[in-house]
Amino acid sequence: MTETTVWKRPHILALADFSPAEYDAVLQTTASFREVLSRRTKRVPALQGQVVAILFFEPSTRTRSSFELAAKRLSADTLNFAPGTSSLTKGETILDTAKTYLAMGADIVVVRHQAAGVPATIARALTKLNPKVSILNAGDGQHEHPSQGLLDLFTLCSLLDWESPRLEVLKGKKIAIVGDILHSRVARSNLWSLTAAGAEVHLAAPPTLLPTLFAETFKEARPGKVVLHHELAPALEDADFVMALRLQQERMTQNLLPSLREYHQRYGITRDRLKLCQPEVKVLHPGPVNRGVEISSDLMDDPRLSLIAQQVTNGVAVRMALLYLLGNRNNE
Ligand code: ASP
Repeated sequence: MTETTVWKRPHILALADFSPAEYDAVLQTTASFREVLSRRTKRVPALQGQVVAILFFEPSTRTRSSFELAAKRLSADTLNFAPGTSSLTKGETILDTAKTYLAMGADIVVVRHQAAGVPATIARALTKLNPKVSILNAGDGQHEHPSQGLLDLFTLCSLLDWESPRLEVLKGKKIAIVGDILHSRVARSNLWSLTAAGAEVHLAAPPTLLPTLFAETFKEARPGKVVLHHELAPALEDADFVMALRLQQERMTQNLLPSLREYHQRYGITRDRLKLCQPEVKVLHPGPVNRGVEISSDLMDDPRLSLIAQQVTNGVAVRMALLYLLGNRNNE
């Protein structure tokens, strides 16, 4: 981070109100940690003596491991919470669980929960007890997934300018987001960050997964930057990037799709369909992927077209940046 950037935000709960300066601070700090991660010794003492508690009330592979590794690379002590083996099974509330970790000395609490708003509620309750604590939302229901939005942003910006990834390099780019947009917190966080960068976001999904009302907030906040499609082709046409999203069957309360096969036939991203896009197009997916449904299996594994592995790699550097910025704000 440059000497001029001072991080003020106490918690990272959503990207909806992130400023361009905050995005750039994250991108720049991430680039420094990417350099650290390319060294032989990948650990720095930036958060030595601090405690990062990782409270995941919902399953996760990438995000949980990535936060844990990020905290370790910064030399923080980590505490891990798994609901199945915790006192939640004895009736303890989520807030009391969070307070227990605070009482143990947690400086940063990373929270994932299946209900929107839980990280914000925890932030309010814990701040009253200790104004120095920071809460980081690692995905809350269908609300937001800020660290995923930021790692996607970093992946795109550093592809366009490796040395100096910054918000403005995405200006005017066309990005298609395809899939289960209705249930996706990743889509919501990305909509805020990509439109803040001045990109044009084209959403494509069947009407059941993309109700017309969905984008009203974004359309009002970022006029002309969000376009809805119920057919795939117009979204892909001349796109610079395509982001496929998982069909979140665990959040679908009704039958919203005829069949996965039919979904793939109409909305699946394949090599052939990418011919509609810009010649240099790249594909992203936040994972986990339903292979052969949202994206064809061969495309997913093709490093010339797929950024999926880079997204996972960048996830660690981005989360190091977020923990670092929060962990050092009390020293400013
Ligand atoms: N891993 C992402 C999330 O937690 C995307 C997904 O689950 O499909 O929201």
